[in-house]
Amino acid sequence: MSTRIGFIGTGIMGQPMARNILKAGYEIIVYNRTQEKTGPLARDGAKVGMSPMEVAEWSDVVILMLTGPEAIDSVLGDEDGLLRGMSKGGMIINMSTVAPAYTRSLAAKLETNGIVLIDAPVSGSRKPAEDGTLIILAGGPQEKIKRLESVFLTMGKRIVYCGEVGQGSGMKMAVNLLLAIMMAGLSEAVSLGERLGLNTETVLETILSGPLGCGLFNLKVDMLKNNVFPPQFPLKHMAKDLGFIMDTADENGISIQVGKAAWQLYQKGLEKGLGDQDVAVVKMMIDSIDN
Ligand code: NAP
Repeated sequence: MSTRIGFIGTGIMGQPMARNILKAGYEIIVYNRTQEKTGPLARDGAKVGMSPMEVAEWSDVVILMLTGPEAIDSVLGDEDGLLRGMSKGGMIINMSTVAPAYTRSLAAKLETNGIVLIDAPVSGSRKPAEDGTLIILAGGPQEKIKRLESVFLTMGKRIVYCGEVGQGSGMKMAVNLLLAIMMAGLSEAVSLGERLGLNTETVLETILSGPLGCGLFNLKVDMLKNNVFPPQFPLKHMAKDLGFIMDTADENGISIQVGKAAWQLYQKGLEKGLGDQDVAVVKMMIDSIDN
């Protein structure tokens, strides 16, 4: 267990993921733009880096769990950025959700610096991140992914090998398209029931107790019952991901119909200032639409 892990981005997902790596006995250094967010990990025994460059210099492999391309580019490229600290033969694992085209361009850029990119976004939100039960959607050189298996399995319960670099992000686009549609679908069904005079809890219990009950709906049921939406997966990230999904579909000549309707809803949610609330807040958008 001699691999030294660098972990950049200790937000909603990054913090519990880094904690699970630490708990498994790895040495880890963490960095976050807003330094206070590394405090709990430091108390648990993680080393804290003052810059991405310091993280890179200390680590054998660096994991990124950041909002998206803008954040990744900023962490890579600043004066005290990651690229300055990485040596040839180094490895970066990007676990943030980004579009496949961005992943491929990042891999090409890193390759010119002698660095290998592993594409490894995750399926699952804060609770699976805390429990170490994420699904890791891996793309890149298979033998390298195999060698990283023990690190991945501290954060997740399953690694899906998706193909070459970019295909992990491709899988993530498919998974999150379904998530966006299912969340909007559940919200619309509950909203319809309520407008027909049915009791909210009864509608939810009816859906959950039958063949439509699923992990996602179980995670969101209390939010819909109580009409409060503490962020597990913020709506702004869903809107961001749907943007990537629409662009990816366009670039590949693929028509996305149901997803497009969902995307418009989440965009409206952003415009209404609901971006920092959980994705389930889309229910409020649906409730507010008049005939
Ligand atoms: P989050 O809590 O908003 O964390 C985002 C992280 O990115 C923070 O560490 C933030 O730093 C950093 N960041 C943003 N802009 C930056 C910049 N310009 N420079 C440097 N750092 C920057 O988000 P999250 O929920 O953990 O999500 C992280 C990634 O995982 C996203 O790609 C998301 O789509 C994906 N994901 C999320 C979930 C989920 O359920 N939450 C599930 C699966 C995948 P600060 O703290 O300084 O802002």
